Amino acid sequence: MNSGENHDPLLNLDLSLSLSQPQPQLQPNQYTLTPPLPKTHLWEPPEPYTPILVPNYQQHAMQKEQEFKLQDQETGPARAVLARRQPVLAMKEGKSETITPPYRWATSTRATVHSLDYLLSHNITSITGTVQCNGGCKEQYEIEFDLKEKFEEVAGFIEENWYNMHDRAPKAWINPVLPTCNRCGQENSLKPVMSTKKKAINWLFLLLGQMIGCCKLQYLKYFCKHTKNHRTGAKDRLVYLTYLGLYKQLKPDE
Ligand SMILES: [Zn+2]
Repeated sequence: MNSGENHDPLLNLDLSLSLSQPQPQLQPNQYTLTPPLPKTHLWEPPEPYTPILVPNYQQHAMQKEQEFKLQDQETGPARAVLARRQPVLAMKEGKSETITPPYRWATSTRATVHSLDYLLSHNITSITGTVQCNGGCKEQYEIEFDLKEKFEEVAGFIEENWYNMHDRAPKAWINPVLPTCNRCGQENSLKPVMSTKKKAINWLFLLLGQMIGCCKLQYLKYFCKHTKNHRTGAKDRLVYLTYLGLYKQLKPDE
């Protein structure tokens, strides 16, 4: 069972409505077998099909968030305690939850960037990152993206394609077309240079260049782990979660 795989917007809506009364004793399967349906009158047979106009990807993201919270409740107090112990164990190896922000646009929380409003109000308007040409010249250098312009591109893509994604990244995200090399002119050649330290991964740069798909699986899992998302699944699922997670960090109110 995986409630995250459920694509029925009505069911998701109803599940999220049921969240108003936390039920920590419920077992996960109860949701699929006998979902609590306090508003059963909302459940109409699906014909004739009436398009649901209200839900959009932003609400979907909120529903996901609520599902995650729900899962926290499902795991019960014992699991919650275990989950909290892990960072303590990790700290013994020299890792803390709080880090020195690796970039001006990053926060002191791992895998987390500031919101778009915060960045623009602090005059952070362009985001730089290191790339390497995999064409003729092999040069490594920095390029920059205009924050607002590039973010609008990403947001526009999500708005247009979200309905067809079904919680999985489309091909354009899995195998992105890379920027053209400024030095040798080779198209589709600038690969982001990934930091060897996961905490220093330039997430916002990767988002704006729509190059999240260049991340190794372990980096995507790192992002999902520290942003409290599911971190199992195929790459297309993790790439999707990372895009949507970063979008939400930039636009937390939507
Ligand atoms: Zn080149």
